[in-house]
Amino acid sequence: MQDSDTCPSVDVLVIGGGVMGASLATWLRLCDPSVSVALVERDTTWTSASSALSAASIRQQFTTAVNIEISRQSLALLRTAADWLSVEGDRPDLGFYEGGYLILAGAEGAPVLRQAHAIQQAHAADVALFSPAQLHARFPWLHVRDLQLGSLGLSGEGWFDGYRLLSALTAKARHLGVHMVRGEVVSMMRDGRSVRDVRLADGRGWSAGVVVNAAGPWARGVASMAGLEVPVAANRRTVFVLDCPTPLPSCPLIVDTSGFWLRPDGPYFIGGVVPTDDAADLPLEPDLAQFEDSFWPALAHRIPAFEAVKVVRAWAGYYEINTFDHNGLVGLHPESDNFFLMNGFSGHGIQQAPAVGRALAERILTGAYRSLDLAALSPSRVQHGAPLTELAIIG
Ligand SMILES: Cc1cc2nc3c(=O)[nH]c(=O)nc-3n(C[C@H](O)[C@H](O)[C@H](O)COP(=O)(O)OP(=O)(O)OC[C@H]3O[C@@H](n4cnc5c(N)ncnc54)[C@H](O)[C@@H]3O)c2cc1C
Repeated sequence: MQDSDTCPSVDVLVIGGGVMGASLATWLRLCDPSVSVALVERDTTWTSASSALSAASIRQQFTTAVNIEISRQSLALLRTAADWLSVEGDRPDLGFYEGGYLILAGAEGAPVLRQAHAIQQAHAADVALFSPAQLHARFPWLHVRDLQLGSLGLSGEGWFDGYRLLSALTAKARHLGVHMVRGEVVSMMRDGRSVRDVRLADGRGWSAGVVVNAAGPWARGVASMAGLEVPVAANRRTVFVLDCPTPLPSCPLIVDTSGFWLRPDGPYFIGGVVPTDDAADLPLEPDLAQFEDSFWPALAHRIPAFEAVKVVRAWAGYYEINTFDHNGLVGLHPESDNFFLMNGFSGHGIQQAPAVGRALAERILTGAYRSLDLAALSPSRVQHGAPLTELAIIG
């Protein structure tokens, strides 16, 4: 990303150049090349951005109509990324591999998995339920004796190179004429229900017709600069890179009854657990003790081959948790006429970015959702105390 010249006035100013901000900026210019867009990012190496630290996986196994539809559209956009993200003949390869998600349940979780499956079937998601015997036949390396059910995505689920998606979106936005601004937003001026002037730490400023908060785990702090509340917290998640001496043929992304997740990653595996002390704003250092304390025992129980595992390395990133209901907050902030949110995706944001960016761009440009109705993610549900209940929240 390069500094642009000072740009005193733009139609849309997006704060945060992770996948959400970059997707929105790209779609704004794809939909309307006449709209002026500035994308402000303080760290152009994305050292702490969630988008660069993610497990970059996509699933269809949600239980709300809106999340299933977002997945369906994002899936189509990931499959065709080389087309719509190409820049002067350079067709980005996101390395998308459709390996599936396998969500496991014991006696307690089985009714929820059945309920989730019924909803997914009603929305034509390609998901099947497996008995322990069927699981054993398909994945002989899996310990199934304490399981009652497994739910496997047969297509449309898998993983990709999240960093590549982020850089391809950024390159496309730049190519389409988005002003790429390196700097940190430190204050905003509010005039009644309008947020008008945005200031950077180096003193530069803009006035914008529309301001969008795409600041990921830092969304609460950015909104507070405009005197607005957003219920988003930055909660650390550690990802372990594991070397397993035994090959596990056709291993999907596994979500275990104990809460750990695991998936293949090149010659290795990556995975993690939900921390027991899940506090906000912890430093971005991996919590290595988690491995022996909780991850390894559960992993070796479910997949005995992992008894001989070696930890290759680990990293940490922030989940941008919507503390109200763990789903995205997308649309106008209810106390403003021009301050939009795309925040709080709670660990499922990178997969939702392609479709959410397009839908919000259409909403900003035309006043209505077109390709995808995201009204169910409206931030006004917080004000109304009406949470969106999603049964399939992971981590
Ligand atoms: C370990 C881990 C695993 C994950 N796995 C998955 C997964 O498998 N599938 C999935 O869908 N999602 C996953 N996620 C979640 C996903 O990565 C996030 O939902 C998504 O990346 C959020 O994108 P974003 O653009 O909103 O935030 P970010 O990528 O964090 O970008 C926000 C940007 O805003 C910038 N910024 C903040 N404040 C300011 C300011 N004041 N001025 C200027 N710039 C500012 C930051 O520097 C940052 O670059 C995972 C996350 C983690 C941490």
